[in-house]
Amino acid sequence: MSPDRNRLHMAIQKSGRLSDQSRQLLKDAGLRLAQGGKNNLSARAENFPLDLMFVRDDDIPTFVADGVCELGVVGQNVLEEYTLGLTEPRIEEVARLGFGKCSLKIAAPDSLTYFNLKMLAGQRIATSYPRLLARFLDNNGIEADIVTMRGAVELAPRLGIARFICDLVSTGATLEANGLAPVADVFDSEAVLVRTLKPVDGPHSEKVAALLTRIDGVIATAESKYIVLNAPEEALPAITEILPGAEAPTVVPLIGRPGHVAVQAVCQESVFWETLEKLKRAGASAILVMPIEKMMM
Ligand code: ATP
Ligand code: ZN
Repeated sequence: MSPDRNRLHMAIQKSGRLSDQSRQLLKDAGLRLAQGGKNNLSARAENFPLDLMFVRDDDIPTFVADGVCELGVVGQNVLEEYTLGLTEPRIEEVARLGFGKCSLKIAAPDSLTYFNLKMLAGQRIATSYPRLLARFLDNNGIEADIVTMRGAVELAPRLGIARFICDLVSTGATLEANGLAPVADVFDSEAVLVRTLKPVDGPHSEKVAALLTRIDGVIATAESKYIVLNAPEEALPAITEILPGAEAPTVVPLIGRPGHVAVQAVCQESVFWETLEKLKRAGASAILVMPIEKMMM
């Protein structure tokens, strides 16, 4: 299969923790993906010059760095592990996507009652992320033996391969089920959009820019809310102070209510009940919070 050079290519995980949300992101960006069987290796967007490539997450940085795909969605853990093995930058992170959050942690047998990083000195630590672990140990001045495993790292202590492990954790349930407990944070990760640093030709780079603008819009929209409220004019400074992540709210007079105004603002951070309570205490009334469907800055 030789890629069609008139179209952009984006690598996403074929099946796994990032696949559903990677596809959803593209749908939210308005792309209509051609239906294909679960085993398809690629899919076309019907209304944008983009082809998706479905690959293993570990292969995504290579595809993007080599320019086979101009864009990709991958965990920062996989990206950073790959980048640490390069002699020059070939791939860059362009946006954090807010999903696939997890953390690379060192875990010890849960029978251990006390832990100190120095206890890792001279020990064997099993991991699928040898470069991230080596950097962490280096930064902490610890010399230990790194045992690289491709999977099932949490079994290493039971198999006598290593006393400690360094693995991805989100809830900690897998560690617990294997008699392990997290003792140190090595790297926090979430899914990111990456792009190749290989030069992309003119018409292509316009398509990349257009897609990135749409994706930025999706990310911004996910957290943003539109707030409308009424307030006495003198409460405006206090109210603007409380509105989370709002720039220059619109203030309009209310007919028949001198000294009162309506305030409208886009808030680019989460709006909690506590925020509404604070607004009310500051003098606001008739507060409406609405989702934003699309946004382009
Ligand atoms: P592949 O077949 O594509 O190689 P995989 O088994 O290596 O799949 P997944 O387990 O699907 O990968 O994880 C993909 C990514 O999801 C991870 O690299 C990480 O960025 C993220 N992730 C989020 N939570 C977790 C978690 N609890 N454990 C592992 N990865 C997680
Ligand atoms: Zn993988």
